[in-house]
Amino acid sequence: MQANLVNLMAVSMRPICMKRAANPILAAMQQRRYASTLDADIVVIGSGPGGYVASIKAAQLGMKTVCVEKDPTLGGTCLNVGCIPSKSLLNNSHYYHMAHSGDLDDRGIKVSGVTLDLPKLMQQKTNVVKALTGGIAGLFKKNKIELVTGHGKITGKNQVTALGPDGSTVATINTKNILIATGSEVTPFQGVPVDEKQIVSSTGALSLAEVPKKMIVIGAGVIGLELGSVWQRLGSDVTLVEFMPAIGGVGIDAEVSKTMQKIMTKQGLKFKLGTKVTAAAKTNGDIQVALEDAKDPSKKENVSCNVLLVCIGRRPYTQNLGLEEIGIERDEKGRIPVNSRFQTVIPSIYAIGDCIHGPMLAHKAEDEGIITVEGIAGGAVHIDYNCVPSVIYTHPEVAWVGKSEEDLKKEGIDYKVGKFPFMANSRAKTNLETDGFAKVLADKNTDKILGVHMIGPAAGELINEAVLAMEYGASAEDVARVCHAHPTCAEALREAHLSAYCGKPINF
Ligand SMILES: Cc1cc2nc3c(=O)[nH]c(=O)nc-3n(C[C@H](O)[C@H](O)[C@H](O)COP(=O)(O)OP(=O)(O)OC[C@H]3O[C@@H](n4cnc5c(N)ncnc54)[C@H](O)[C@@H]3O)c2cc1C
Repeated sequence: MQANLVNLMAVSMRPICMKRAANPILAAMQQRRYASTLDADIVVIGSGPGGYVASIKAAQLGMKTVCVEKDPTLGGTCLNVGCIPSKSLLNNSHYYHMAHSGDLDDRGIKVSGVTLDLPKLMQQKTNVVKALTGGIAGLFKKNKIELVTGHGKITGKNQVTALGPDGSTVATINTKNILIATGSEVTPFQGVPVDEKQIVSSTGALSLAEVPKKMIVIGAGVIGLELGSVWQRLGSDVTLVEFMPAIGGVGIDAEVSKTMQKIMTKQGLKFKLGTKVTAAAKTNGDIQVALEDAKDPSKKENVSCNVLLVCIGRRPYTQNLGLEEIGIERDEKGRIPVNSRFQTVIPSIYAIGDCIHGPMLAHKAEDEGIITVEGIAGGAVHIDYNCVPSVIYTHPEVAWVGKSEEDLKKEGIDYKVGKFPFMANSRAKTNLETDGFAKVLADKNTDKILGVHMIGPAAGELINEAVLAMEYGASAEDVARVCHAHPTCAEALREAHLSAYCGKPINF
């Protein structure tokens, strides 16, 4: 009977999910009816960018692949409440801002009566999320990946049990390998409970029902800057409070950070840097936020807002995964320790993405997923974290890869700097997008590129050229000698390389 059921599911590729019946007894019966035992070469727990990409790669390599996902849609944080919805809001709020702020007027395009249809803007975001998460379901089907909807718990070195919402067993999967790709969750702010309406995390900030008159964002890192920009463009008075003395989070070059702050301030964002939020409470429909100088606690201030966005980071999500029971200990930050093949202390169990070390980025999770699976299939496993790019999708965009000037100084590496302003780039000038610059850091003796930092138009696209050059160990001269199409913003990047290599850009 069980064998028949397994065969049936293998043929239909139907997700094993229980329709949630209102009657709990009926629900339990339904689950029991579907509960089954499966065999697999690999079970991937989590369908975020790490897990879904790893599942597809595993299937492509001929492994019998099962992906266990607890949420009703695939794609994890990135597709559902992260990269994709935030970029939809960033893109469309930028158009609104262009039409509303007089930017289009400056270009000779007269628009009047511009109004915001927030529900439609949100619907557009929902549509794209739906299309992309549905696309993954299609890819799973195409690649014959078995999807099990349930909470994956490791119940043996070679076994994962998928549990229903009431804790009953949906499926037991015996497998040669297990890949943990369970991602991360919002880090809570002690004493400031999120209700996702007035005190929101990034998730709530992606779906506000109206534009808040006044918004305070705790944290001027990547997500705080992006979502703060969205609501400021849509009409909110936004202040970002940041404990550190600079914006942009970990890894950003200090010169880029300062330039970004200047540009964002010109756009209307307000910053309180070197400032700590000590408490927040709802009073008469508003939120009172208590601030304190990070260096001098005697300097205190109270500010109020309609919406408080808590954006202090994310932490690995490994709840009820069965790690302790199996003997996998987490590090001090709650991450799962892995070796260079992404293997935990148990050789058949691997982990990737936000739940392990390294930057919490979708493309980092994807790359780790692919190489881990290739490694399981007998291939080489290599990733150079120095070549993982970072992008802040504000306007203009900020992007970087490799070392910052501060890193190089700290490491005592002799370097040279090549810089080129977008003001002197013909395409940027034509497009009236001249804010920012491209900056190349190269080894003083060998000319090898050590880091590339940009703030300017399409920086998030241009950075991929820098990543490619660094992956291939290119020198600044190598890139400077590559023919670049004209007129493009990429020419600014080429000129920055030229400047680093010989100190003499052509157009500046
Ligand atoms: C607002 C916001 C914007 C962002 N923008 C960007 C961006 O522009 N670019 C970028 O690179 N990154 C961005 N990120 C970060 C990016 O979303 C994450 O780095 C990425 O999603 C991590 O991928 P992952 O596969 O490791 O985990 P996740 O995407 O978190 O996926 C984990 C999956 O595992 C599932 N899961 C967890 N535990 C279990 C279990 N026990 N059983 C079954 N399923 C389980 C979860 O439901 C989830 O679907 C953003 C994040 C946020 C919050």
